[in-house]
Amino acid sequence: MDSLKQEIVEKLPKVELHCHLDGSVSRKTIRKIAEAQDYPLPSSESELRNLVQAGEDCQSLLEYIGKFDTVLDCLQVEEAITEAAYDLIGDVKAENVAYIEVRFAPMLSTHKGLSADQVVQAALTGFKKGEADFGVKSRGILCMMRHHDDQRNREVVELTKEYLGQGIVGIDLAGDEASYPAGNYKELVKLANDYDLPITLHAGECGCAGNVRESVDMGATRIGHGIALKDDPEILAYCVEQGITVEICPNSNLQTKTVTEWSDYPYLKLKEAGLNISLNTDNRTITDTNLTKEFMTLDNLYQIGYEGMQELTENGIKASFTEESMKKELLAFVRKEYQEVSRNA
Ligand SMILES: [Zn+2]
Repeated sequence: MDSLKQEIVEKLPKVELHCHLDGSVSRKTIRKIAEAQDYPLPSSESELRNLVQAGEDCQSLLEYIGKFDTVLDCLQVEEAITEAAYDLIGDVKAENVAYIEVRFAPMLSTHKGLSADQVVQAALTGFKKGEADFGVKSRGILCMMRHHDDQRNREVVELTKEYLGQGIVGIDLAGDEASYPAGNYKELVKLANDYDLPITLHAGECGCAGNVRESVDMGATRIGHGIALKDDPEILAYCVEQGITVEICPNSNLQTKTVTEWSDYPYLKLKEAGLNISLNTDNRTITDTNLTKEFMTLDNLYQIGYEGMQELTENGIKASFTEESMKKELLAFVRKEYQEVSRNA
């Protein structure tokens, strides 16, 4: 199989299901929104990079999560949220992402008086303006946070219900999985289920396949990461049977020490078991990545070729939470573009 060429990968249409807004605001945009609020940032690029990027020597998910602090401090006013959302759409256009689901936790932007509702509206304004200017289709997913109390997370369930079909397409649970297992959120996820909200949950990022099983039983049709499935064939088979899609984020998984070396990365194991896999960045800025880099990483490790790239892309479209008509359109577009490549290869 031909190995991937970066310049072709960049040009091919891609889709992303697992991208956090706060972890994907470029350094350039961070500077812009910080300056507008007189928020002090280090003047040197390398110091800023240390503040907002995890790097290879990151030791854990907790250390990784600390990299959100600076940007979250700046995402407390509507203009900054709109600008961050808009600039992200511009950034993903540069590598030809055709459709992206961007997730964010509205409650994390309410520290200076914004309501969660205002946060959602500010982000949606940025996405819509981005779609108009760059032609990238986008939808939002709202995140409950593991360290937040039930009352705050319940507000996120209610907001998702309110904005479903108006730019928001689903709900997630993010944060420190090791300290807060999936089972703590049964009641909240049940409420999301009662409202028929599409559900994706972070699980199996911290070494526990039991969290994946529990998340699926609670009603998640997609799992963020799911890497712990590599150590539990029974739960892996269960997820295959249930038609679950895992949103893997290889370079992030290495930084958070979900796996400690590439030889442990379970892409082939999960694929050969028959699991639906979609490829994602998680956090473009914190992990210093984009989808092109993630595809090149998988190709270097497993020689996935354009066929593998197309399969991962189609998996993402099929598992996306957007309207059926848009999925159909995206699938047709992707198939046409990839055909072109195989013809020219
Ligand atoms: Zn994530």
